Amino acid sequence: MTKITVAKGDGIGPEIMDTTLEILMAAGAKIEVEEIEVGEKVYLAGNTAGIAKESWDVIRRNKIFLKAPITTPQGGGYKSLNVTTRKFLGLYSNVRPCMSLHPFVATKHPIMDVVIVRENEEDLYAGIEHQQTDEVVQCLKLISRPGCEKIVRYAFEYAKHYGRKKVTCFTKDNIMKQTDGLFHQVFDEIAREYPEIENEHWIIDIGAAKMADTPEAFDVIVMPNLYGDVLSDVAAQIAGSVGLAGSANIGEECAMFEAIHGSAPRRAGQNMANPSGLLQGAIMMLNHIGQTKIAEKIQNAWLKTIEDGIHTYDVYKEGVSQEKVGTKEFAQAVIANLGQEPKLLKSVTYAENAALNLPKYERKAPAKKELVGVDLFVHWAGKNPDELAAIVKTLDTNEVKLSMITNRGIKVWPEGFEETFCTDHWRCRFKPTEGNQMNKHSIINLLNEAIQQGVDTIKTENLYTFDGKMGFSLGQGQ
Ligand code: NAD
Repeated sequence: MTKITVAKGDGIGPEIMDTTLEILMAAGAKIEVEEIEVGEKVYLAGNTAGIAKESWDVIRRNKIFLKAPITTPQGGGYKSLNVTTRKFLGLYSNVRPCMSLHPFVATKHPIMDVVIVRENEEDLYAGIEHQQTDEVVQCLKLISRPGCEKIVRYAFEYAKHYGRKKVTCFTKDNIMKQTDGLFHQVFDEIAREYPEIENEHWIIDIGAAKMADTPEAFDVIVMPNLYGDVLSDVAAQIAGSVGLAGSANIGEECAMFEAIHGSAPRRAGQNMANPSGLLQGAIMMLNHIGQTKIAEKIQNAWLKTIEDGIHTYDVYKEGVSQEKVGTKEFAQAVIANLGQEPKLLKSVTYAENAALNLPKYERKAPAKKELVGVDLFVHWAGKNPDELAAIVKTLDTNEVKLSMITNRGIKVWPEGFEETFCTDHWRCRFKPTEGNQMNKHSIINLLNEAIQQGVDTIKTENLYTFDGKMGFSLGQGQ
């Protein structure tokens, strides 16, 4: 018996949760439900997080959380409970299977069966943003080795467990050589440990185009947070399964399972909603907690129900569907089909042992880190980079000297192009003078010099090598 936390959510949430749990119980799931209240009522009672402290305790104690969609009230500084839950509980992996159910559910891609594994904690979603000058704001893209190792290993272990043949990685490492470069590098390292699973890397732009056009060419796709956010919706949409897809958010300790759709408030309380998305989330949950044979039984009964043409309004189609049913009737049909398998759609078989081999991250021995320069970011409202160079060169000390200026990453000094458009945000790169080694005092001296000369520095970035390997990018055109 596994105790799980359940939140029935808002809008259609309570209806689809009740029917989902009914199906799970009818199939013999060994779960005990502990219910908590989250969402609209909690928000409107003045809790901007949408969840009470006691509810966190329940979630953390039970570790497994099945959540119906919730309504986030508009305006008023309410925080998305989904984002908060993922971050607080360290749910680093978002897994979304996107499968077409041709010819029973309309889709342009009859043989699509893709699983998107999205990194869920880092990348541009760390929320570290700053305005630095009148004209320029920044968002830090943070990618870590532990983050990459955990998500990439999860993707390969998932593929191995579910008998999938290939894992594809999408990045833009031709441009972001450090951040996406690390993700790709870790992918290659870990792929070597799974010789039985095919692996490949695509640049995200052409990879995304290929996925939208020929999704049958892909199996499991792993990617950093932002790309995964966008492409997991594209994948669900083209599979025709936005209302039918579930997702899992997996952490080292806790996991949360849900439908991908929202609370559809206009359909609430009318016995109309399709419970399939949440049911798919619940099936992933049963697999996760090792009740794989029950998960298998429910999935096959659900596939058979879809195949029998028993459809809720959202997928109902004259000529294809047999019967338009409500939420409850759909659930009863699934229950009646327990123990049966689909004939045309592919039935599923889940391995008995659910445990994925996910070792805890182990920190590697530190590399030899050497300070080899500093980027001084300057707010300057002038236009001509040569003029700025003349000003900034006055900051040269006998330890460091100006070597390059870029504007939005493009080299504008020395030997820039007049045509390059410049904002008021300039990066001035200082390197050690001939025969000198610099240290952090060199940077402090440089900043002091900048104050003296009235140069408005807004931040610095240290330039390091790690075991001799350059840990920073060159200027575009350098
Ligand atoms: P939505 O997914 O609720 O609805 C989009 C469309 O799909 C609507 O026409 C709706 O009627 C239909 N639909 C969705 N689920 C359905 C189902 N199970 N059966 C039949 N039809 C279904 O998206 P929205 O309208 O943009 O958002 C409504 C609310 O849901 C918002 O408050 C939003 O913040 C919230 N939301 C919550 C989650 C979550 O909790 N995970 C996710 C997305 C949106």
